Amino acid sequence: MNAQTAAELDLYQDVVMDHKRAPRHFGTLAAPTHQARGRNPSCGDDLQVTLQVAQERIEDIRFSGQGCAICIASASMMTEAVHGGDVALARQLQQRFRAVLTGELEPEAAHLGKLVSLAGVRRYPGRIKCALLGWHALMHALDDPS
Ligand code: ZN
Repeated sequence: MNAQTAAELDLYQDVVMDHKRAPRHFGTLAAPTHQARGRNPSCGDDLQVTLQVAQERIEDIRFSGQGCAICIASASMMTEAVHGGDVALARQLQQRFRAVLTGELEPEAAHLGKLVSLAGVRRYPGRIKCALLGWHALMHALDDPS
């Protein structure tokens, strides 16, 4: 590993820990148009995602629950990535993010933005579900209006 790669990994860990310490959009919307719960029994992660969707746009999003650092940080970063954006773009981003974690797509080719900070999780198969849990809950919520 060269020095630049090591520095990037440190940076990515800082980003992940920052989101774990101070999760963005944490909480529950009072009157969501969509919601879903996601559980990962192998780790104990348990999240709820609530959404306000209008005209195929995610106007607001919150997540709540408990989980490991990877789970919480990934859900927090997800809310930042999709807040205010089109539903279709959120679905595409979820597909690319999942493909990177499962090894089908290289991080450099995935255009993940800040989410690339979590690409290192692909080296830890036991943690991939943790990183995808918030996204799974988001997809379930979008497919199943409340
Ligand atoms: Zn976990």
